[in-house]
Amino acid sequence: MKTRAVWLTYSFGWLMLLGAASAAMQDPAEPANAGAWSPAPKPVVPASPPGAIPMEAVDPRLLLGTIQQLVACGTRSSLSSWTDPRRGIGCARNYLAGQFRDLARLTHRRLQVVVDSFEATSPRTANKPAHLENVYAILPGTDPALAKTVFLVSGHFDSIPSNVMDAETDAPGADDDASGTAVSLECARLLAGGRYRATLLFAALSGEEQGLLGGKRLLAYLQQNGYTVGGFLNNDIVGADFAPGAPHRVRVFSGGGPEGADSPSRELARSIEEIDGRSAIRLIFRPDRLGRGGDHLPFIAAGLPAVRFTEPLEDYHHQHQTPRVEKGIHYGDLIEFLNLSFLRNVVRDNAEVLRVLALAPAPPSEVTLSGAVSPDAKLAWSGPDDPERAGFEILWRETTDPRWSVLEFTPTAGEHVLAGISTDNYFFAVRAVGKNGARSIAVAALPKGSAARQGREQPGGN
Ligand SMILES: [Zn+2]
Repeated sequence: MKTRAVWLTYSFGWLMLLGAASAAMQDPAEPANAGAWSPAPKPVVPASPPGAIPMEAVDPRLLLGTIQQLVACGTRSSLSSWTDPRRGIGCARNYLAGQFRDLARLTHRRLQVVVDSFEATSPRTANKPAHLENVYAILPGTDPALAKTVFLVSGHFDSIPSNVMDAETDAPGADDDASGTAVSLECARLLAGGRYRATLLFAALSGEEQGLLGGKRLLAYLQQNGYTVGGFLNNDIVGADFAPGAPHRVRVFSGGGPEGADSPSRELARSIEEIDGRSAIRLIFRPDRLGRGGDHLPFIAAGLPAVRFTEPLEDYHHQHQTPRVEKGIHYGDLIEFLNLSFLRNVVRDNAEVLRVLALAPAPPSEVTLSGAVSPDAKLAWSGPDDPERAGFEILWRETTDPRWSVLEFTPTAGEHVLAGISTDNYFFAVRAVGKNGARSIAVAALPKGSAARQGREQPGGN
């Protein structure tokens, strides 16, 4: 069978040049026409769907306005007042629900606003049930077969001062996480007027600082309402970029699967890098920063595609700190420490990923790899009927490589034999490709019955 490699990111022309130079160094055991460095043929389908969101569409004044309104609530401790319109987390909930409702009116109510009230208990609620509320704006998908698949963007609108149990002291939380909340709201502004095959959900969560309570609730809400999570983009601390040379790339954290296998989280991260480009995204192959967490972690634990966006370098004087000056050091999470150019890039990166993935066909299912103790790798997968799908791309990579390359395009599901390609020397995956050029996230090919496969299919995933 003819096999050729297509570099995923066509814009990286210099890699092609490098490839030509290194072709002579190819491992002799590798099929001559199947090296990842082979010259790229023309893509079979468009590289991405037309209508990319231009950077000019993102208005930094709106981002700043959102953050100012949230900071003006004084504190957004989840344990503060939910009913006082001027001070406390209820003030922030009012503002966000109001903004989403204004957008809903503009879309003639295609966008649906849900204020999801719940109770949750953790050591950080003094082990007593705390009243909490999440705000969701949901844009239903236009394709009946994909309308129960949801792509989400979130930030948490709660904040804390130095003491996590203190509901009285000022906690501006401009970066953590008014910035991420502003990303979610701005993505809604950019996308709510469009039509997408899958459903989009723009979330503002509470209770993050009290133990990821809002993220856990969001997952339960989706499961109770029968949604499949297509991808979850959690934005937490995405507003500052103080190092020289800013704006830098945003970090995208993703978790791995059992046995070091690829996971849905990792595949979502790779899709994000491919859609936004390597100059925009810095992939970090761990679920979160060391010893820290966010609202995406309950999703990763359930085997779902979820990632965290976070600024390139954090300043701990400006995080979880009561505003004050001590020995000449300014503590506090204040607006003056933000970089709106960086935040604007993060908005655009999120919105474009949501746009492309919500236009894509469903990812393939039951992707299996066989052919051990034989010269040929055999891949098999299935996919639902979909007149908008052009076909599938078989992806592969060296076991030491972080990124996929396209090995082959095929219009149909079923079993595919990769003649002369060893199962032992590569990892494989498959993704669906729309006639519009939108790709689903990849699904790694695993042997039937492997521990990694069982880990991926654990109960709780949907
Ligand atoms: Zn946070």
